[in-house]
Amino acid sequence: MRAAESAETVRRILCVFPRYTPSFGTFEYAYPLTDGVQAFMPPQGLLLIAAYLPENWPVRFIDENIRPATTEDFEWAEAVFVSGMHIQRQQMNDICRRAHAFDLTVAIGGPSVSACPDYYPSFDYLHVGELGDATNDLIARLAHDPSRPKQQVVLKTTDRLDMTSFPLPAYELADLKHYFLGSIQYSSGCPYQCEFCDIPGLYGRNPRLKSPQQITAELDKMLECGIRGSVYFVDDNFIGNRKAALELLPHLVEWQKKTGYVLRFSCEATLNIAKRPEILAGMREAFFSTIFCGIETPDPVALKAMHKDHNMMVPIMEAIKTLNSFGMEVVSGIILGLDTDKPETGAHLLEFIEASQIPLLTINLLQALPKTPLWDRLKRENRLIEDEGRDSNVDFRLPYEDVVMTWRACMGSAYQPAKLLERYEYQIRETYPNQIKRPRTPQQASWANIKLGLTMLRNIFWKVGVLGDYKIQFWKFALRRLARGEIEHLISSILVAHHLINFARDASGGHTNASYYSLKLQEASVPAE
Ligand code: SF4
Repeated sequence: MRAAESAETVRRILCVFPRYTPSFGTFEYAYPLTDGVQAFMPPQGLLLIAAYLPENWPVRFIDENIRPATTEDFEWAEAVFVSGMHIQRQQMNDICRRAHAFDLTVAIGGPSVSACPDYYPSFDYLHVGELGDATNDLIARLAHDPSRPKQQVVLKTTDRLDMTSFPLPAYELADLKHYFLGSIQYSSGCPYQCEFCDIPGLYGRNPRLKSPQQITAELDKMLECGIRGSVYFVDDNFIGNRKAALELLPHLVEWQKKTGYVLRFSCEATLNIAKRPEILAGMREAFFSTIFCGIETPDPVALKAMHKDHNMMVPIMEAIKTLNSFGMEVVSGIILGLDTDKPETGAHLLEFIEASQIPLLTINLLQALPKTPLWDRLKRENRLIEDEGRDSNVDFRLPYEDVVMTWRACMGSAYQPAKLLERYEYQIRETYPNQIKRPRTPQQASWANIKLGLTMLRNIFWKVGVLGDYKIQFWKFALRRLARGEIEHLISSILVAHHLINFARDASGGHTNASYYSLKLQEASVPAE
């Protein structure tokens, strides 16, 4: 469904997605090993808005992770739309500044402005909340008059559009082959209330859903538009509504059969998914190969304190092994700087990594986000610190320097090449063999796929095996894969491992932020054209 058609007025809209500050979870160091990947995931929000605009409004989409918006783009446009997360705050304000230099009206929507409208004082329109009546209002105002309003206008969604009425995101505007991962959204919201998380506050506790038919139509469209490799369900909790997840899975299985299993899926879910073998079996059949779980900490006392008791419904180690037994590698979010942390927390974390054999853990410092119970509590306790030079806005119980040093030490140790590749070796031995045996299909054996694999292999051998500085560990790992014909595992493991090793070196050397949400943004400015 599109917004009300505006046959009489035509507005040219430039949608600009800001650059990411390089982070652990955006895999920049992997891009040179691919055949032209330049950005992490296509932005769902902007592509959705682009599709929702009146059909007769021309839309240009620019992801500044791929190329900056040019003078020609700004001269073409009548209004600019921007969206992004807190980490992109400086870049979003910079896009606004550049658009205003052309006297263009600039509107901002998405998760960051919805949580913190105050971060964006220069924008002309703030779109707060999800797609809905505020969106229609914005479109109507621009249709009526595209010039800049005299003062900032804040439009808040009170009546959200039902997700079953969402149009297919305008993937045709994005060059999907330049993305590391495809992205898709089935649901919005989460029933839990972890203390640090802003999802229930922003999107509600009763997950809203698209229909399975919408999802398979989106997947069809993504394939048509050139997506390859993996598609990530960006839902904050894939099993937020377990019944809906169960309903979707057979459709995904059918879709995989129809299209020849050319894509693999990944998602985020709470660890208590381990109690749902029927869901895990469906996910295995639909070829889910990775699942991100916010384990946060292996310490049960800390989990209780942050209201994440649901992580303890099954003993953590047992839950990880269960997911592995369904062929899914676990990726884990970890938080340091919790009130319950002790001087020995770092050592315990490293023991946990060793025991769980999880290759990829995103280890962040605790950050208090607005609209969270944590923010409210720390505000009451007078423990919020607004200082852009710090890696977190939380006044930790332990000395700040000690917490940051623990983070650096954990990153430095966990991602030593030998240790990381050993954990991948474990996954290749214990997890991947449990994945569905995909039928060999002509789609997988297409020349384009073979060429892609050969290009990545060439890059890996040259850039890691010849030019890299962990050659001995690499070749030990690679020769075993080659001897066993595990070429696909070799490519997928090294792509990710190479990023983790390099990013962790930056981190342990103090060159990156310890929090994904930190205000201390490094390399943040977007070069204007
Ligand atoms: S389970 Fe995940 S999405 Fe849900 S409230 Fe907790 S951290 Fe947020």
